[in-house]
Amino acid sequence: MKMKNTSIRTRVTLYYSLTMIFITVFLLIAFLLVSSRQISVASRDTVMKAVQNSFDEIEYGNDFIEIDDDFDSYKRGVTLLVYTEGGRLIKGSVPKGFPAGTPLSAGEFQQMVADGETYLIYDLYNTYENGQGIWVRGIYAMEGSLTALKAVTLIILIALPAILVFVILAGRRITRQAFIPVAEIADAADSISNGQDLSRRLPMGKNKDELYHLSKTLNQMIERLEEAFKAEKEFSSDVSHELKTPVSVMLAECEYALQETRSPEEYQETLQMIQGQCRRTMSLIQQLLQMSRTLDREKMLEREEFDLSVLCESIAEELSLVAEEKGICLKHDIQPDICIYADETLILRMIMNLLTNGMKYSRPDAADSAVLLKLRKDPHTENTVITVEDNGIGIRKEDLENIFHRFYKVDKSRTGGEESFGLGLSMVRWIARAHGGDVRAESTFGEGSRFTVTLPSTLCEAPPETDG
Ligand code: ADP
Repeated sequence: MKMKNTSIRTRVTLYYSLTMIFITVFLLIAFLLVSSRQISVASRDTVMKAVQNSFDEIEYGNDFIEIDDDFDSYKRGVTLLVYTEGGRLIKGSVPKGFPAGTPLSAGEFQQMVADGETYLIYDLYNTYENGQGIWVRGIYAMEGSLTALKAVTLIILIALPAILVFVILAGRRITRQAFIPVAEIADAADSISNGQDLSRRLPMGKNKDELYHLSKTLNQMIERLEEAFKAEKEFSSDVSHELKTPVSVMLAECEYALQETRSPEEYQETLQMIQGQCRRTMSLIQQLLQMSRTLDREKMLEREEFDLSVLCESIAEELSLVAEEKGICLKHDIQPDICIYADETLILRMIMNLLTNGMKYSRPDAADSAVLLKLRKDPHTENTVITVEDNGIGIRKEDLENIFHRFYKVDKSRTGGEESFGLGLSMVRWIARAHGGDVRAESTFGEGSRFTVTLPSTLCEAPPETDG
């Protein structure tokens, strides 16, 4: 039978019903076997005892046999017959239908069916002092006990189909009840996916059973999907917004220039303005590409073992000239020989972003602007700690929570001069977290900021090399 397309409900009912039938038939057979055996043992015991006891009521002299008057030839369902040694019946009468010629057999049980009746026969022979012997035969008609057993079996056989039908119907009902929540979950999931309404949730039910946990897990998944879709939406709208601003400026400049004939100086000014906006747009596109490449590496960081101390020193050296041009003193305090197993390109980008921010957000009027890059290993936790400190403009408390969000800029009007798209710190946090670490910002508005990246100690150990 093909069960592939059968519903779970039908399958459960089927398995359950077959199991019930199997158990019932097994129990019935066991009952019959045990009962008939019990009846057989009890019957043998009754016949044997009756025959043995009857000898107490028979006396045998030299030339006489005396049977007590109170000799009972029908005792507890057993017919007792007394025979002489030669096989002549001297006491009792053979039950109707019992074959009188049945041979005597000392100490053995015989079972026979005659005239529709089942008989159990037990014969015993006793020899007296004068050497003469006597037979006593016990005949037990078993039909009485067997009839009761047959009646019970018949009742069970008649009741069995009814019981099975009841059991199957009850099973179907129970499974239908049990599957109602599953159908509800499926309906709800269907309407969520059809209507694309990710704000809806699946019903959880009152009992904390398997279905409750299934709904809970699916709801968590829908919640994450909703967040991801929301983030995607926000990202697209932020990107559009960022691109719209320079394009609008360029359009306005072109329209202004084309309205009437302008002087060559005015045209030059317009072109310079457009060039500036083009550069800004290009820079945004580059940053977006860089970010997308960074995020693409999420699942497969290209990890390798490298000396972070050397990397920090070379970054500081590289940026010191740029800093000098801006009148900023770039200092570094680097603990030597810190090696980590990480994605070097991403770590480099992370430190670069923090340092360029430190320089970008220096106080314009300050003569002592400085940025400090620090690298050390925490002696307690063995974590690697990178700190970038500056004495720049600082960040207000209310902005501090948001600066790691994509496209978040504290000063929205800041467009000229250096590019500011609000992408750098979100990338820093993403890189730190992708390596199992995190980044923290502390700042005093007007005095300066400190960014601390913590990378876990586990990054210091390269995984063991595997063969092949
Ligand atoms: P961007 O610098 O391109 O605007 P970031 O994500 O790097 O983007 O920074 C987000 C915001 O955080 C910046 O707009 C700036 O206001 C603030 N910020 C970042 N670093 C510093 C810093 N060292 N000092 C003061 N403000 C900072």
